[in-house]
Amino acid sequence: MILKLIRLTSLTIQKIKYVQQTMKEARDNNPLCGARTRSNNPCAKYPIKGKRRCRLHGGLSTGPKTAEGRARIAAAQFKHGRYVNWRARRAKEKLYYQKIRLVMAQAKEAGLIEH
Ligand SMILES: [Zn+2]
Repeated sequence: MILKLIRLTSLTIQKIKYVQQTMKEARDNNPLCGARTRSNNPCAKYPIKGKRRCRLHGGLSTGPKTAEGRARIAAAQFKHGRYVNWRARRAKEKLYYQKIRLVMAQAKEAGLIEH
């Protein structure tokens, strides 16, 4: 049961890593802006040098300059709070997986489980 669960979670992690990798490759290899236009198609203009978007889709933006501006943008982007503190939660998750791997290795070494 626990073996199955661990196998499932590791498969899911592999899948997530694969999707993230392919998305990163697409972003790095595609020189176009790619923002969604009003016609629902990706923008075909070239991005501003050193940026990912063209001048019409945020390439000219310098980002928020003040703490108040950052807070305003964060509030505008907030939808459901599902990803609040996700970095901290992910770090905790990683720690738990590390511990699980350690316990599994010890159990294997002690001959409590095979393979
Ligand atoms: Zn664009």
